[in-house]
Amino acid sequence: MIRIAIIGYGNLGRGVETAIKKTDDTELVGIFTRRDPLTVKAKAGKVYSMADLYDKKNEIDVCILCGGSATDLPVQTPELTKIFNTVDSFDTHAKIPEHYSVIDDTAKKNSTVSIISVGWDPGLFSINRAYAESILPDGETVTFWGKGVSQGHSDALRRIDGIKDAIQYTIPNNDIIDRLKVGEHLELSTRDKHTRECFIVLEDGADEAAIIEKIVTMPNYFNEYDTTVNVITQEELEKNHKQKMPHGGKVLRVGQTSKQNKEIYDFSLALDSNPEFTSSTLVAYARACARLAEEKKYGAYTVLDIAPSYISPKSGADLRKELL
Ligand code: NDP
Repeated sequence: MIRIAIIGYGNLGRGVETAIKKTDDTELVGIFTRRDPLTVKAKAGKVYSMADLYDKKNEIDVCILCGGSATDLPVQTPELTKIFNTVDSFDTHAKIPEHYSVIDDTAKKNSTVSIISVGWDPGLFSINRAYAESILPDGETVTFWGKGVSQGHSDALRRIDGIKDAIQYTIPNNDIIDRLKVGEHLELSTRDKHTRECFIVLEDGADEAAIIEKIVTMPNYFNEYDTTVNVITQEELEKNHKQKMPHGGKVLRVGQTSKQNKEIYDFSLALDSNPEFTSSTLVAYARACARLAEEKKYGAYTVLDIAPSYISPKSGADLRKELL
């Protein structure tokens, strides 16, 4: 059994708790939170304070870090990798090389293993970009996201004065996807690939027109997209938009293997629950983490470094018989 500790109990923490139950070879040691454990209600696992984590060192094979990428993981992953084998879902793409370097150094000094930036993007999408580019060197890769809820964009909306609550969907342009697939060469701007749809609930007395203008012109978030804004009630938001956290997307590479032959590499995900799926990948890579630690292959890894057999619960013999 691979003994797992969940660090941080938000969407991913809950997802890992659920994902562990779907496996036969992992078990939950406990959930560790920075909050008062009595205030955190878990579905099944026992909730402990972070201060208790170090006492349980000998009961834990892998810590799955479920904190946020912005401020939690840059602190928690290096700190915990000093003592534990760790898996995180750090998804600030531009800062991954720096994060890797810090964790690799820590893991090698302390004889631990850490797999960083696990999930679907970064994660499975990265693996598929690597496969597609290596197999089809003469081609172009485009990534589309959605239709799905972007937490970052939803948060940006909620920070605007006068907005009580909000959710934002990223929507891929299917017409562009179809044109790429038939081999059209397109110079694509940000605006061409995705649109953004916002559902906002306003505070009493808020200036609707001014708020909408603020949204569609917001730099880095909305100004480079065609954005629609729908004003709805809190009840509608709860009923129609907050029950699930769907997401997904596709990595598309169209390449030429010869002058007359075009090849399409198309990897898609359609997720009812972004956090539950992301958490399921974290649990699969915790398996790889435990195995690498057993083999004393200390250091940091990303999904690009891990062979598929390391994340499978099946033996090499079974994999060769069943999946090849
Ligand atoms: P949450 O905001 O739900 O949770 C982050 C942390 O905040 C938790 O670990 C928890 O720590 C704390 N927290 C959660 N709920 C509360 C609360 N009610 N009050 C106070 N603190 C709370 O983040 P998510 O789980 O949704 O996402 C975590 C990260 O996962 C994201 O930042 C994103 O970067 C990454 N991600 C990566 C993906 C990929 O494909 N690679 C896909 C999806 C997400 P504590 O219990 O210690 O207080």
